[in-house]
Amino acid sequence: MFFKRDKTVIRERHDHCISRANIDPDALRVLYRLANTGHTAYLVGGSVRDLLLGRQPKDFDIGTDARPNDIRRLFRNCFLIGRRFRLAHIVFGRKVIETSTFRRQPETSESDNGIYQTEDNTFGTPEEDAKRRDFTVNGLFYDIKTFSVIDYVGGLKDLDKKVLRSIGDPNIRFREDPVRMMRAVKFAARLGFTIDRACRKALLKHHADIVNASIPRVCEEVFRLFTYNSSGAAFKLLWEFKLLQDLLPEVSAYIDTTGKEKSPLWKYLAALDADPQNADLSNGVRTALLYYPLFLEQLRKEETHAPHGRVNKQHVARMVLHPVATRLHIPKTTLFTAVALMDVQRRFAESPKKGRGHRFVFHPAFPEALAFQRILVAAEGGDKALLDEWQALYEHEVARNAPRPQGEEHPDAEADEPRDAEEDAPAPRRRRRRRGPRPDGPRPERAGATAEAGRDITVSEVLPTPDRTDSCE
Ligand code: ATP
Ligand code: MG
Repeated sequence: MFFKRDKTVIRERHDHCISRANIDPDALRVLYRLANTGHTAYLVGGSVRDLLLGRQPKDFDIGTDARPNDIRRLFRNCFLIGRRFRLAHIVFGRKVIETSTFRRQPETSESDNGIYQTEDNTFGTPEEDAKRRDFTVNGLFYDIKTFSVIDYVGGLKDLDKKVLRSIGDPNIRFREDPVRMMRAVKFAARLGFTIDRACRKALLKHHADIVNASIPRVCEEVFRLFTYNSSGAAFKLLWEFKLLQDLLPEVSAYIDTTGKEKSPLWKYLAALDADPQNADLSNGVRTALLYYPLFLEQLRKEETHAPHGRVNKQHVARMVLHPVATRLHIPKTTLFTAVALMDVQRRFAESPKKGRGHRFVFHPAFPEALAFQRILVAAEGGDKALLDEWQALYEHEVARNAPRPQGEEHPDAEADEPRDAEEDAPAPRRRRRRRGPRPDGPRPERAGATAEAGRDITVSEVLPTPDRTDSCE
């Protein structure tokens, strides 16, 4: 490691753990082509941070001194995007390597309502590019020519000390872009870092500015807090720094009135973080889980007032989710799934063998409902054996209805017996009027059709169709 006179730290190849074997081969291809055509090309941002921490980066972003049009000329698979600042998306199948020209922090002006950017981003030097970034650990570069890590912002020291520190005064940086406050919480929770004193003070001072941020960005960041098995830590930090009272006031009030650090909400988030399929859960499941304790509380209140204690659960779920859905513009798919999950949960209280309960496995929301129930059972210590029964039935039905290669027997088929000609002849057409359940069990649901299986489920009309996205953008 050596220091340049301007305090830039260079950590050479033998002094850090980044190996090209851990870098995405397509990102390497882009880096090499840029470098071989005379450009500076660095791996930047979260990927350098994660590689230095020995974690698998989610994506590999590249910074270069090549201008957007130069990048387009170099890569046929390149698309330029963005209005304020043009970024190059270099596409490899379904993978995108985001490549951006080094830029500097835009000029800002201050008013009573916050700090605004008065000009579009402009190209800059690598150092200026590092300094426009949010946290020191996100401002590191990996140089493909020398295989060294370049640190203009003190990120290496903070990475070693596991500290999250703002680049520049956090009082200014958080007001320029209040989403940075949510990012501080996200990185601290995900990486297990402590937030430095200046950032902590700035968070407590400026938390209310989050309401000025763009709603789709905030919504996207809220769902990112659930990732990497760290939702418990993330929501606790949001609550401690009072961001939760601005973002999800109903959840914050619930925590305050139900024991604060001992609130039941934490056990649901802990179960979510411990779930083996955590990474595959939809935002519908996550929303349902975050609001489930609030739903239960509301349900209890409604039941005490309702005649005979009978309450429409779907109505209660909608009531509980309505404020967050309107405030954060949660996508309909996510909302409908969350409502459905809260509503159908009662079905798991009985064995699938009972009554017509087994039809539930053909409900389009069943896999998500099962995942949701698995987390609830873990959180509440419910009946695991019953859950296993539903899981086994579901797996059986999936196997039974899976498309089979030609010639392969259906698992439930009778053993081969010689068939006589009469049996092979087409049967005379008969009008079938079936009463009661099919003797061979329920029929799988056809995509888009209101299947028989869904008929007895009150929420079928609100279920998402598969082609709708649950992204906030
Ligand atoms: P993740 O693993 O979640 O993708 P990341 O650090 O890569 O984490 P991104 O949102 O992908 O985060 O952003 C890439 C990089 O862009 C960041 O590492 C940071 O350097 C910079 N960045 C992102 N958002 C901001 C922001 N709001 N202000 C300043 N810099 C930002
Ligand atoms: Mg990233």
